[in-house]
Amino acid sequence: MSNPAVENVVIIGSGPAGYTAAIYAGRANLKPVMFEGYQMGGIPGGQLMTTTEVENFPGFPEGITGPQLMDRMKAQAERWGAELYTEDVIEVDFSQRPFTVRSDEREFKTHTIILATGATAKRLNLPSEDKFWSHGISACAICDGASPIFKGVELAVIGGGDSAAEEAVYLTKYGSHVHLLVRRDELRASKAMQQRVLDHPKVTVHWNTETVDVFGNGKMEGIRLKNRQTDEETELSVGGLFYAIGHTPNTQIVKGQLELDDVGYVVTQHGGVETSVEGVYAVGDVQDHEFRQAITAAGSGCMGAMLAERWLSAKG
Ligand code: FAD
Repeated sequence: MSNPAVENVVIIGSGPAGYTAAIYAGRANLKPVMFEGYQMGGIPGGQLMTTTEVENFPGFPEGITGPQLMDRMKAQAERWGAELYTEDVIEVDFSQRPFTVRSDEREFKTHTIILATGATAKRLNLPSEDKFWSHGISACAICDGASPIFKGVELAVIGGGDSAAEEAVYLTKYGSHVHLLVRRDELRASKAMQQRVLDHPKVTVHWNTETVDVFGNGKMEGIRLKNRQTDEETELSVGGLFYAIGHTPNTQIVKGQLELDDVGYVVTQHGGVETSVEGVYAVGDVQDHEFRQAITAAGSGCMGAMLAERWLSAKG
């Protein structure tokens, strides 16, 4: 499109989804503008900045740390001409074309938007949580379950929904036994999933159970639990603790402008990345509550950029 005051595409968010969108949009000569974020819904580079080894991103047979992987993606986006701002977008207006995107420092008009603001894993804010985060505590069993530190030791999963039940069963491949810690006296998981957990010989469900803290000298040695009915506190020896208590999608800035589901994830069409507004694409964890992996986020970032490019070409 010819108006120089209007950008082709503005990308909001700099996780694997946002940077992949920037690489593809840059290579399509769209001169993408990207707001990397600052603190509103995560940090520049996204969720992988908070982890150590990433062992399942293709192309790195020896593994790579999360921050190193994100630095590489950023360098690749810059190489293809992405204009990056380490700022949070505080407001968008999709009611008029071109769309408006605003941070505290600047405002852009743009023909298309790629929303890649991700989701934030919920935390419990236990007193020792920061000390053991990524060193015994994980928010992703699929990502971290195979780590040698969890092999052959007892593990615990916190949560009562489908993800918690699924992760408990998944972790039995690695841990010697898995304890599922459920706050209530029932599971919210589907009936079939409940049955798999309850029947599994390597899973013990602890009902009415709250986690009070984590302890260990250097590495995690156990957790302190409280029975919500009796207030009795006990200790459980485990070498790993997995949170499966949900994620908060970072969709505050698009509330009321895009269709969101009950939890706040962006609703996309036909399993793709198109949103309820033409020319606005939602990619990565902000629209995916099922897979939530770096590779799926990157894949959908690619889709968003290719669709934006097609849309711009079609409008001439
Ligand atoms: P995110 O990575 O969440 O990035 C979102 C971006 O949006 C951030 O840069 C944030 O600053 C920005 N943002 C938010 N709001 C705004 C705003 N208003 N304005 C501007 N920017 C904004 N997956 C794997 O495949 N392998 C692993 O080993 C693995 N390990 C993990 C370990 C941990 C501890 C965690 C938490 C996750 C892990 N994951 C792993 C999952 C993976 O990190 C996510 O699936 C992936 O990062 C999602 O990418 P994304 O680009 O959609 O969003």
